[in-house]
Amino acid sequence: MAKLAGAHDLTLITQNVDDLHERGGSPDVIHMHGELNSALCGACDSRWQAPKLMHPEDPCPACGACATRPDIVWFGEIPYHMERVWQALDEAELFAAIGTSGNVYPAAGFAQHAARAGAECVELNLEDSANSRDFSRRILGPASRTVPEWVESLLA
Ligand SMILES: [Zn+2]
Repeated sequence: MAKLAGAHDLTLITQNVDDLHERGGSPDVIHMHGELNSALCGACDSRWQAPKLMHPEDPCPACGACATRPDIVWFGEIPYHMERVWQALDEAELFAAIGTSGNVYPAAGFAQHAARAGAECVELNLEDSANSRDFSRRILGPASRTVPEWVESLLA
């Protein structure tokens, strides 16, 4: 994905809470479900580097409240950066979903949204997802093989 970002105007949206994309060299990753490496104050929304061990009673470095939690979007909470995500979907020429079940909204609706806005939609997945019908092209197989091949085809 970092290679693709170097050659195209890429918006990388991830549901993963780890730093896999950052370690892969991708710049500007949108973590719609938050980040494990970040702590969040439930009282003032301040964020800081998460310690290895975190307790709800840890005081917030900014306001002192004992409302520490992981900076992760929990079930029932609204994912982060959605305004930026919808805008990117509106403007995309190509939308690709890689390795997702297609079960969890709002992410499961991204392909349909992008297609309506005129994007070609490609699914790269181990097997058909719950919303495979929303993609005009599907590439099945392990991401370790299909993603590098697909990226090379876009760079060729
Ligand atoms: Zn705070």
